[in-house]
Amino acid sequence: MSIILNYLKEQQEAITETLFKLTESESPSIKKVLVDRCGEVLREEFEQLIGGTVEVIEKTEVGNQYKFTYGEGDETNQVLVIGHMDTVWDEGALPIRKEGNILYGPGVFDMKGGLTITLWAIKALKENNVKLNKKITFLVTTDEEIGSEHSKEIILEEAQKSSVVFIPESSIAPDGAVKTERKGAGQFSMKIEGISAHAGINAWDGASAIEELAYQILDLKKLANRQEGISINVGTVSGGTRVNVIAKEAAADIDVRITKKAQAQALVKKIMDRPSFIEGTRIEINGKIERYPLERTDAVIQLYKDLKEIAASHGYELGEGSSGGASDGNFTAWLGIPTIDGLGPVGDGAHSDHEHVDLTNLPYRAALLAEIILKYAVH
Ligand SMILES: [Zn+2]
Repeated sequence: MSIILNYLKEQQEAITETLFKLTESESPSIKKVLVDRCGEVLREEFEQLIGGTVEVIEKTEVGNQYKFTYGEGDETNQVLVIGHMDTVWDEGALPIRKEGNILYGPGVFDMKGGLTITLWAIKALKENNVKLNKKITFLVTTDEEIGSEHSKEIILEEAQKSSVVFIPESSIAPDGAVKTERKGAGQFSMKIEGISAHAGINAWDGASAIEELAYQILDLKKLANRQEGISINVGTVSGGTRVNVIAKEAAADIDVRITKKAQAQALVKKIMDRPSFIEGTRIEINGKIERYPLERTDAVIQLYKDLKEIAASHGYELGEGSSGGASDGNFTAWLGIPTIDGLGPVGDGAHSDHEHVDLTNLPYRAALLAEIILKYAVH
């Protein structure tokens, strides 16, 4: 039996307590005051449980971010864990409730459970006097749910100093499989300008922006490829002013997902270079692929095998899977740093009102993270 797992099982109540505290301190991405308060709770937990070094990265538009470090080692060869404390929930929108071993609440699965697991994984290494040869950096951001614009830079900077990156984001429901693949994502906006005209008197003088948009939507959809893992969604459309006016303007927002970095360039070119179908209309497109995919490379497969082995030694089977959503792991994978995601708790319902975590599994998930950190921080 693993000493680390044993220790963490004994701490079941204390681990649950940490998760409660972090969840109670609600932290919608867009409310800096609340996110800052949650950051203070997190900092207190880190200082009380672990007591390593804390660096606050002050932010003006979003919540302050934190860099916690534990242990010593080469500045350029650390083990990096990345999490976010912001959630998609407005304050009071989702009540916290416990039913048996299940805890429901805002961000409990995405990803306060993951923050809890990380704190306790490091705590377990410390309590068991495990000798590490690498420094562990735990970076906690505050704008993941709104695109990571204010944290991308520090994520890339820290990733560059790391040999491996662990992301304790929510796992794959229902049994906690880890994520060995994440799609890359981008957003584009399309504006079409046509020529307005009276729909009755001089219909043939106009050029309808709405009709052009309809053609464009169908044409864009042809770029999607299920087998290749490329999806395109026109999520919003707008246009026109009156039913009897040929529309001068129309617009659409487009969401694009890719599975391989190599797909990006050609696809973006096809999205941007859009000839119009209707004479007299003009198209303007802006946007880019914001997050590159986390690809299932050999290094990622190796990380998964190592995790699977640890899980087996704890008496259960660990699965793997892919996710259509992007996370901060997409940034680190983009730099080519081996990254594995979905190491968070077992649960379900991220971003939905049945968001929950299975509390009995927390010690197992913390032990899994502790032992994979150990494996990579020793050599
Ligand atoms: Zn998340």
